[in-house]
Amino acid sequence: MSHAPLIIKVGGGEGIDITPVCHDVAELVSAGRPVVLIHGGSHETNIVAEKLGCPPKWITSQSGRTSRRTDRETMEIFQMVYCGKANKSVVEQLQKLGVNAVGLSGMDGRVWQGERKGAIRAVENGRVRVIRDDLSGTVKTINADLLRSMLDAGLTPVLCPPAISTEGDPINVDADRAAAATAGALRAEALVLLSNVPGLLADVNDAGSLIHSVAPAELPTVLERHAQGRMKNKVQGAGEALDAGVGTVVIASANVDRPVFTALEGHGTVFAYDHSTGVSPVRTAGEAQ
Ligand code: ADP
Repeated sequence: MSHAPLIIKVGGGEGIDITPVCHDVAELVSAGRPVVLIHGGSHETNIVAEKLGCPPKWITSQSGRTSRRTDRETMEIFQMVYCGKANKSVVEQLQKLGVNAVGLSGMDGRVWQGERKGAIRAVENGRVRVIRDDLSGTVKTINADLLRSMLDAGLTPVLCPPAISTEGDPINVDADRAAAATAGALRAEALVLLSNVPGLLADVNDAGSLIHSVAPAELPTVLERHAQGRMKNKVQGAGEALDAGVGTVVIASANVDRPVFTALEGHGTVFAYDHSTGVSPVRTAGEAQ
C-alpha cells in the first residue's frame, strides 16, 4: 500500500443517500488512494423488520445509549438487510463506477472480531432489566492483514456489521466504533464518519451550533455535555481512532455535494491532535500525483 488508507463510514439512517459517497470513493480510488468503505443499514432494517412482522425494539443502557435489541430473529433480518440488500447495493454502485469493490460483513474472514455481551442492563420505564440472550457486542480485533492484502490487490473492501464473536456468533456492533477500530488497525490517514447531521452540534436541536473542532483533551467534556444517544458512539470512536494513531477524524454530513471531499476539507467536526496542520490535502483524479 503506497498511501495510508482512508476509512469512510456512512450511516444507514433515514434520508441518507450513499450514491454521492460512492462517486467520491471512485474518484479517490482512481487517484490511487486506498479506501475502506463501511456502511450501516438501520433504517432499511427497520422497514424490512416491520414488513416481516418483527418490529424493531430498542434498548437504552444506564449510560443513556440506545441500541437495537438483537435476538436471533432480529439478527436474521439484520443480516438479510446489511449483508444482502445494503452491502450488495453499494458493491453494485461501486462496480458500475469502475471500482473493484468486495463486500464483506465483519464475520467474513473475522474482519471484525469481538466479545458478545454476557448480560445487558437496560433501562425500561425507569427500571433496570437484565437481558442475557442479546447478540450484540463490541469489536476488539481487526483482521488488518486481510484488509491490507485486499487493498494491495487493488480491491476496495465494503464492510458492514455484524461482527463475529470469539465463539463464532454473529454480533451486532456499533459501526462507528468498528470503523474507528478499523482505522486504528490500518493506521489510516483519516476516518470520515458521514451521517444525517452536519457534525457534532453543541445543541442537537440547532443545526447552526456546529462544533468545528475538538482536541483530544476536550473529548470527555464534549461527550458529557453535547453528544447524546448514538452521537456518543461517534465521538468515542473519534477518540479511540486518534489514540490508535489515526491522523484526523471528521464527523460530517452525508447529505451535501461531494460529501467525502467536503468532510476532508474540514467541513464538519474535526478531531485531531494537532489542528495547526489541518486535514492533509487529498489529491483527486484530476491532480498530479
Ligand atoms: P448514523 O446511523 O447515520 O451513523 P446516528 O443516528 O447513529 O447516525 O447518529 C446521528 C444522530 O445523533 C443524529 O441524527 C442526532 O439525532 C443524534 N445526536 C445526538 N446528539 C447529537 C449532537 N450533539 N450533534 C449531532 N447529532 C446528535
